[in-house]
Amino acid sequence: MTDDLSAEKSPADTRAADIAAVRAFWERLGLPGLIDVHTHFMPKQVLDKVWQYFDSAGPLTGRVWPIAYREDEDARMQRLRDFGILAFSSMLYPHKPDMAAWLNSWAAEFAARTPDCLHTATFYPEPGAGEYVAEAISHGARIFKSHVQVGNYSPDDPLLNPVWELLQEHQIPTVIHAGSGPAPGTFTGPAPVNDVLERHPELPLIIAHMGMPEYTEFLDMAERFPNVYLDTTMAFTTFTEAEIPFPPADRARLLTLQDRILHGSDFPNIPYPYIESLDALQRLDLGDDWLRAVCFDNAVRLFGIAV
Ligand SMILES: [Zn+2]
Repeated sequence: MTDDLSAEKSPADTRAADIAAVRAFWERLGLPGLIDVHTHFMPKQVLDKVWQYFDSAGPLTGRVWPIAYREDEDARMQRLRDFGILAFSSMLYPHKPDMAAWLNSWAAEFAARTPDCLHTATFYPEPGAGEYVAEAISHGARIFKSHVQVGNYSPDDPLLNPVWELLQEHQIPTVIHAGSGPAPGTFTGPAPVNDVLERHPELPLIIAHMGMPEYTEFLDMAERFPNVYLDTTMAFTTFTEAEIPFPPADRARLLTLQDRILHGSDFPNIPYPYIESLDALQRLDLGDDWLRAVCFDNAVRLFGIAV
């Protein structure tokens, strides 16, 4: 009994250890910190719904998904800063029409009070999408988010044509969750994204989650189109490898595409501590130069981040 009690850590100790582990990762690499292109900040009522979804995902998918960082917004932001995340995003996305413009106004306000956040915006295939995307760009949006499974739309929907044209013209990247994992949707998978790229070959896209489970097809796309990147969000972790393993045959391509891979975490909606997203990259054993490129240099270059 005594042993059990002494082994128990206080919340402050747990928090300090969580932070120390992340800082040790980038300090060892000689970096000034990290950049995380895939973090979620959104209006409270929307985030509460997302958390409800993950709470109920266990019974639906047979996998328990405890949110590791269920804290209020200020505490989450402080934790990222304590980790040493020098730039992050506020990924948010609509699941229905007439929602994206409202999310964008929230995100603009969030970015204005959060200088280390890359001003994020989103869209939905609907009349007027080109107009509010142009407005978001004029307000300083630097990254967009598209969630194909939640939005239940095709990236190749003609209503998105003006959006892709604008984003190609301004060279603003969109993080697109288009892979069929962890849950497939009517329009998920590589084909519709490939069609978009055929028509907009210079479009900057960041394929979320390395495109899982269609890792190979999305790596093909990055080889073929010069502005296609992939984010590592949740990929290579023990949690993901158990169900949607990365194909060992594609490992060498991670090195070839070293300049096109970006660290992302999915903070705060992850079922493990933040350090696992970094340990997972380290376990790939692709070298420190690869880690520096993926966790820092590539995002600095892509977003023109002053460091
Ligand atoms: Zn995400």
